[in-house]
Amino acid sequence: MSFQVFDSLSKEKRVFQPLEPGVVRMYNCGPTVYGRAHIGNLRTFLFADVLRRWLECRGLRVVQVMNITDVGHLLDDADEGEDKIEAQARREQRDPWEISRGFTELFLRDMRALGCKEPAVRPKASEHVPEMLAIIEGLLAKGFAYQVGGDVYYEVAKFPRYGRLSGNTVAELEAGARIDVREEKRHPADFALWKSDPKHLMKWTSRFGPDGFPGWHIECSAMARKHLGDQLDIHTGGEDNVFPHHECEIAQSEAFTEKPFANYWMHAKFLQVDGGKMSKRLGNVWNLDDVEARGYTPRQLRFALIRGHYRGPLNFTWGILEEAKSALAKLDDLVSDVQAAVRGERVAPDPRTGAEALAGARPRFEQGLDDDLNVPQALAALFELRSAFLEGGVGRATAQEALDFLRRADASLGVLQLTEATLDARMQQLIAARAEARARKDWPASDRIRDEIAALGVVLQDTPQGVVWRKKA
Ligand code: AMP
Ligand code: ZN
Repeated sequence: MSFQVFDSLSKEKRVFQPLEPGVVRMYNCGPTVYGRAHIGNLRTFLFADVLRRWLECRGLRVVQVMNITDVGHLLDDADEGEDKIEAQARREQRDPWEISRGFTELFLRDMRALGCKEPAVRPKASEHVPEMLAIIEGLLAKGFAYQVGGDVYYEVAKFPRYGRLSGNTVAELEAGARIDVREEKRHPADFALWKSDPKHLMKWTSRFGPDGFPGWHIECSAMARKHLGDQLDIHTGGEDNVFPHHECEIAQSEAFTEKPFANYWMHAKFLQVDGGKMSKRLGNVWNLDDVEARGYTPRQLRFALIRGHYRGPLNFTWGILEEAKSALAKLDDLVSDVQAAVRGERVAPDPRTGAEALAGARPRFEQGLDDDLNVPQALAALFELRSAFLEGGVGRATAQEALDFLRRADASLGVLQLTEATLDARMQQLIAARAEARARKDWPASDRIRDEIAALGVVLQDTPQGVVWRKKA
């Protein structure tokens, strides 16, 4: 079975094949660090993490690069409006560099809390200005760009494939252009590679003047090239990145290198909240702190955000988080039942009991993820396995194999709790004391100790094979 991914450029599922055998070069558009990442951003980054994990599970080495946009992303995503970070700095009356540093730190903390693997590189846009200027010079030299005063624009009419990713055409973009389009542009869809503005706070001196800063799109073209080379296997982002951001990246990179930029483009669908767009006005732009303040763990949020298909709609409500929490608890039960069976507790007499269910679940799980990361199908395989084990029991040999399978499932999804719980000395004493009380038939003492144990978060169960314990979820 091969791994198929939906490529937003060709608009079809294609078998994934890396350019260099065994290695995947992947670039993920990262956060603009003007605010705390919200759960919509997190959905897109978690999708990238699951993608990386699945590629690794399939034996590929993944070189993952996720940038930090710390300058140049303007409020309208194109050439107009204030820099998002400078606008935030003004609101908070702080230095823009301090704003980007602070939110970068918080972002990294969120990624760790959510169990995301660390990319090979997290390049910052502000540290790649020379690389951006090199591409800009190249585009000027090749006639794809033009300078107007201190600004440099990309001339979209020079790049016939402009619009292929997003489905826009240069003509349509012209027709739909706003009246107040900058006169200095040759075409309303031309976009800034470099801008000059003495009021801008984060700025660089170049041959275009002393007050320059890069356009958002050139940043990603330059960072991807610096860390991954001229050609990437996979480029990801949220669906809003398709236009203008990724369309412009393709135009810049391909005009400059004269090679196809990314072999597969993958985009996560926008997360909605309460049936609509998240908005400050509605007060529902939730972040990880809000989720934790309501008593949910980052692991539960991770599960809620990855359990739907990344290209399918996902409407976040506190209700769906509650549902995710109980579904995840069921998977935790599966894990602890399998672990108990490996230890020889509560096992079916025939060591192969449950083998058939496992033999069915394993390929379903793999086929699910192989089919453009169909996480819902992969999870369904795990839930079916749980039902089968609950109904028919599990033998010790099957349990060992099931545990190996669960380890692989966790390597790809990152949501299971596989570190075995161990009991501390105090707990072991209590369990022994309770066993003694039972041997004396001192039922009140036995019950009292059981309650004490329960208060410490461990549940005891008396079975014909003896007492078994499990930690409460
Ligand atoms: P930004 O910080 O605005 O540059 O966005 C960081 C990433 O989050 C980008 O890949 C966006 O496409 C993505 N993103 C923004 N809003 C949402 C949302 N509501 N759902 C999913 N992804 C989003
Ligand atoms: Zn980007």
